Amino acid sequence: MTAAVPFVDLAASVRDDRDAYLAAIATIIDGGAFVGGAAVTDFEADFARHAGARHGVAVSDGTLALVLALRALGVGPGDEVITAANSFYATAEAIALAGATPVLADVLADTLTIDPADIARRIGPRTKCVVPVHLFGQLAEVGAVLELAQAHGLTVLEDSAQAHGATRTAPNGEVWRAGSIGHAAAFSFYPTKNLGAFGEGGAITTGDAEVAERARVLRDHGQVSRHLHREIGYNARLNAISCACLSISLRRLDARNAARRAVAAAYRERLRDLPGVRLVAEAPGATPVYHLMIVQVEAARRDEVRNRMGADGVATAIHYPRPIHLQPAFAHLGQGPGSCPIAERAAEEMISLPMFPELTVDAVERVVASLRRALAR
Ligand SMILES: *Cc1c(COP(=O)(O)O)cnc(C)c1O
Repeated sequence: MTAAVPFVDLAASVRDDRDAYLAAIATIIDGGAFVGGAAVTDFEADFARHAGARHGVAVSDGTLALVLALRALGVGPGDEVITAANSFYATAEAIALAGATPVLADVLADTLTIDPADIARRIGPRTKCVVPVHLFGQLAEVGAVLELAQAHGLTVLEDSAQAHGATRTAPNGEVWRAGSIGHAAAFSFYPTKNLGAFGEGGAITTGDAEVAERARVLRDHGQVSRHLHREIGYNARLNAISCACLSISLRRLDARNAARRAVAAAYRERLRDLPGVRLVAEAPGATPVYHLMIVQVEAARRDEVRNRMGADGVATAIHYPRPIHLQPAFAHLGQGPGSCPIAERAAEEMISLPMFPELTVDAVERVVASLRRALAR
């Protein structure tokens, strides 16, 4: 068999900037400002500009970015927050950590992003906020979500952890950009994300100066001035070395997202007519950034297909094998099997294929050939 195809290649993604990273780290080491300082505020400004938002707040990770953003938006105990059943667990976890109750909504069968009609069905007197997830790098149905939010007086927090740089053109020609659409957005810089740090990292973007200020205070123990604590907060700061390195990586983000789209196009062209395989639809006007490349196959054959691909040296994964409402940690919500049927079915059918900017067309062809053989047997 031919050479193995890894699922991601993080070392390859940082190789070109190795010298720049080392120089930036040396500057921080020599300067002595390890927490806070210009490296942090410069990155916050760079990142907010890239997201098309007025304010950026760097934090320790994406989960805390969600928690701090929710709290900065005024979400807390007694509130319900609606989010997608098909997402990384941390989206709902953050809602619970903010003291609120997550309500999981189903997803659309074609894009697998949150279904606005199901959000509408789940809005109640305690609903305070909606958290659409820009899943796999594609913007959710933000136009419909914003309309619902406006009609019901809700805030919107974008979970943009998988969507740095993703855009979508609205029917009226307006261009939506992940991080600039809702009242606030949360990003993750976990190493495998489209913009990744050398460790954990996250950020909040918002157009609202008060939300940004409150997030900054929460990030630093609720401290408004030295040793004066206004509320219970966190130690959720992002260190200077991570910020300096992220500013370097940010310069390549657009090119790397374009490379991911080229990889996705190579996959889509070769998989479009493959019997037994369904692709995630690209929504009208969407320019996804392909955090992940998902295919769906018959549930009964999914594990066997993955095993056969693994035997060919093709690494695959599942994002996500268990919808959030069926996680033991959320059993108390009482949203049992059948409450989000599309997400439940997708969880049994999805396979994540290798996806990273440096993936070659040759490697894509090996993945597709392996998938085709696995399905043909
Ligand atoms: C990665 C991720 C998070 C959490 O980010 P961390 O930095 O890992 O804490 C939240 N939501 C989604 C959709 C994610 O993919």
